Amino acid sequence: MGEEVRNLYVHFPFCRRKCTYCALFSRAGVSSSDRAEYVKHLASAVQAILPPRDTPPLSTIYFGGGSPALCNLSPLLDALSAKIDAKTEFSVELHPLDVTRENLKALKEGGVNRISMGLQSLNDEILKHMGRGYTFTEAEKSFLLIKEYFPNAGIDLIIGYPDDMWGQSPHLNRIASWGLTHCSAYSLILEENSALHRMGTRSLDDEELMDSLTAASRFIEGIGLKRYEISNYAIPGFECRHNMATWRGEDYYGLGIGAHGRIGQKRTRNWWGKSQADSPDWWGQSPEIEDVSEEFDFKERRLFALRTREGLDASERPEWIDILDKFCAEGILTQKKSRYVLTARGREVCDSIIAELI
Ligand code: SF4
Repeated sequence: MGEEVRNLYVHFPFCRRKCTYCALFSRAGVSSSDRAEYVKHLASAVQAILPPRDTPPLSTIYFGGGSPALCNLSPLLDALSAKIDAKTEFSVELHPLDVTRENLKALKEGGVNRISMGLQSLNDEILKHMGRGYTFTEAEKSFLLIKEYFPNAGIDLIIGYPDDMWGQSPHLNRIASWGLTHCSAYSLILEENSALHRMGTRSLDDEELMDSLTAASRFIEGIGLKRYEISNYAIPGFECRHNMATWRGEDYYGLGIGAHGRIGQKRTRNWWGKSQADSPDWWGQSPEIEDVSEEFDFKERRLFALRTREGLDASERPEWIDILDKFCAEGILTQKKSRYVLTARGREVCDSIIAELI
C-alpha cells in the first residue's frame, strides 16, 4: 500500500454497556482475553502496513470507539512507537470512567498527546437515561485529571437528546473553567436500531433542536472556541488535524472492526456485521477492498471540505459553479473568491448539497 499514507484511524468496538442512543457496532461484556487478542491483531496489522524501517512517521493517529481504554493498549503502542515523532498528533477517545492516573500515564508514555472525553450531556438525569454510568461531577473530576497529563483535551457532546434542552443546561459555568481546547457537538440522530428508538422516545422537534444547537454553539464560542467544521470547535491552533486531514481529502488507513480507510482509489472497510462478529475470530477478518473510479475519488476528496470553514474550492470544477451559485442565491452558501462556505442555514443541509454534487 502507498507510502504516502500519513494518517491512521484505529477502532475499538468495546463498551462497558450500550448507550441508549447508540446504533454503532460495539459490544459490551467482551472478555479481557478477547480484547487482548484484538489488540494483538491490531499490533500485527500495524507491523504489516507500516514496516518500521520503510515508512516515515505518521502525521496523525486517532484511536476511537467504543472505549479504547477498555483494552490494554501496550502492544499496539509499542508497535506504533517507531511511527511517531514530535510532530505526530496522537488522539485517543476516553470514556470518563476509564480515566485513571495509570491509564493516563500509559497513554502519555505511549506518545499520545491529545484526548477527547465523551461527556455527552451536562445533566445528571439525562446521563442516567443515556446509560453513561457517571454523573456530571464524576465526569468533571475525570476531565480535570486528564488536564494534569494532557493540556490538549476536549469533550464530545450530544445535542438534541430528548428533554435535554441546552439553553437550560446546568453546570455551564463549571465547564467554562475546564480549559477545553476542543469540543465536538453532534446532533442526535435517532437511529432505528438504537434502544432509544425502540423505547418509542419522542425526539426534539426541529425548532427545539435548532434552539438547543444555537444555545450550545453560543456557549462553546463564548468560551473562546471557534467553529471550524459543522460540529467541531477548537481554540485556534487546536483543531483536530486527523479529522482535518480526512476532510481535506488525504489518505488514511483504517484498522479495527468498523473502520474505513482511503488509499489512492481503494476504499477499505473492516467488516462489522453481526453473524461474523459472533464467530471466534471476528477481530481477524480481512478488510473488504473496493476500487472506486477516478471521478468518484476526486469528488469524495474535495467535497467534504464543504463541511469546514475553509469551504469548497470550485476552481478545479467549473461545472460545479452553477449549482453552487444557486445555493448562494438561496442563502445556503456564501462565496469567498473560488471557495464556497456554508452559512448557518447551509450547515443544516450540507449533506444534500454534497449529494447534489457527487
Ligand atoms: S456511544 Fe460509544 S460508548 Fe456508548 S455504546 Fe456507542 S460506542 Fe459504546
